Amino acid sequence: MPPEMVEDPVCGMRIDPDDAAGTAEYGGKLYYFCSETCHDAFVANPATYV
Ligand SMILES: [Zn+2]
Repeated sequence: MPPEMVEDPVCGMRIDPDDAAGTAEYGGKLYYFCSETCHDAFVANPATYV
């Protein structure tokens, strides 16, 4: 079972994984994002956010 709420690493917002606008895998971990903007920012430079 996935965790009930996850934290968007870009903006720090807590979101429901089912409602995430996007996901990205980095360093073997899956990250969830509240919006495409956060997703794109993370993908462009993931090391900044982890
Ligand atoms: Zn966000």
